[in-house]
Amino acid sequence: MAKDYYNILNVPRNASGDQVKRAYRRLANQYHPDKKGGDEKKFKEINEAYQILSDPAKKQQYDQFGTTFEQSQSQDQGGYSGFNGFQDFSGFADTFSGFKQKQGQTEYNFGGFEDIFQDIFGFGAKKGGVQKGEDISVDLELTLEEAAQGKIEEIEIYKRVVCPKCKGEGVEQGSSFKTCSQCQGKGEVKTTQRTVFGSFVAARICPQCHGEGKIPEKSCGNCGGDGRIRNNEKIKIKIPAGIDNRGTLRLSGLGDAGKRGIQPGDLYATIHIKKHPYFERKGDDIFCQTKISFTQATLGDKIKVPALEGEVSLKVPAGIESGQIIRLKSKGITHLRNRGKGDEFVKIIVKTPKRFSRKAKELLKDLKKEGL
Ligand SMILES: [Zn+2]
Ligand SMILES: [Zn+2]
Repeated sequence: MAKDYYNILNVPRNASGDQVKRAYRRLANQYHPDKKGGDEKKFKEINEAYQILSDPAKKQQYDQFGTTFEQSQSQDQGGYSGFNGFQDFSGFADTFSGFKQKQGQTEYNFGGFEDIFQDIFGFGAKKGGVQKGEDISVDLELTLEEAAQGKIEEIEIYKRVVCPKCKGEGVEQGSSFKTCSQCQGKGEVKTTQRTVFGSFVAARICPQCHGEGKIPEKSCGNCGGDGRIRNNEKIKIKIPAGIDNRGTLRLSGLGDAGKRGIQPGDLYATIHIKKHPYFERKGDDIFCQTKISFTQATLGDKIKVPALEGEVSLKVPAGIESGQIIRLKSKGITHLRNRGKGDEFVKIIVKTPKRFSRKAKELLKDLKKEGL
C-alpha cells in the first residue's frame, strides 16, 4: 500500500526543508529501535519518508505522483531498490549522541524496577512525554560582527504549542473532568517491587492522569486531549555580544509545549559563526594582517585598517619590520560576561616592489649608494 509521507512525519504538505528535518529528528529519536519503547517498523517508515521529503527531486516526484509514487518509480526506472531504513544518520548524529547517555542509564533494568530508579533519580523524565514537553535544538548562523555585537534573531520553528481551543487542558468545551480511575484522584500509584535488595514500595506518578488525579470526560476535538497541537511559532532569541562559536543558549520553556498544560520543554540554540574574510578570532581577541609599502615601513605612516565596527586608523611607526604585530587596544570582542573587550592585532606585511618606473629605479640606485 502506498504511504503518505507527510502524514508519517506529521508535517504539512508545504513544510520547509527545515521543518521536515526537525520532524524527522524528533520522530527518529522517539522511535529508534535501540531505545526503550522504540519501534523498528515505524522507524524505518520515518526514515523512508525523510529520504523522499528531504530530497527536492524525490519530493517533487512524490508530490506529482502522490501516493502512487512507489509504483511509478518501479515502472519508470525498472525497479526501485527500496530504502535502507538505517542510512543517512549523519544528519542527526548530534541528536543521537545525547540519547546514548540515556541508554546507559536504562541499564538498570531489573524488569520494571528501572521505573523506580527513574522516579527517584529523574532518569528518563521525558519518557512517554509525562514530565514535561520535549526540548528542541536549533542551529543559528552568525557573522563574526553579529557575534561580537550581539543581536536579536527571530526564527520560526514548527513545534508543539498549547492547543488554543482547550487552552492546553485537553478537555472538550462544555465537558469537564472526572476523577482518575487508576489512582482514585491521588495522582500517584503505589507499586511493590521485589528485587534482589528486598521489597520496595514505590510511589509513581499515575500513568493515566499524569499526576493530575483527573482526566477529561471528553477529549478536546482539536488536539485529541493532548492539550497541544503542532504549529509554527515565531521566537525572538536575544544573542548576547561575545558569544563564541558552538556556544549554546538555553531558552527556558520555549521547547515543545507539555502534555495537557504541564511544563514545556526548553529550546537550545547553538551558535555557528561563519568564517570571516579577514579576521580570525581567538577568545575575545581578533587577528588580521595588512600590507604596507617599504617606504611606509621605512618612514612610518598613518593607515586605515579594518575593525569590527568599521575602519580605524593605525599609526605605523617608522622602521617597522615585516611580520611585526601592532595591538589596537579594546578593538576586539566584548567579553560575554564581564563586558570588557579584547584587542585587535594587526600583523604588518611589508611589500617589496617588483615593478617600478625608470625614475624610481634611479632613486633606488641612489638609495643603495647611500647604504640603504
Ligand atoms: Zn485541545
Ligand atoms: Zn490517575
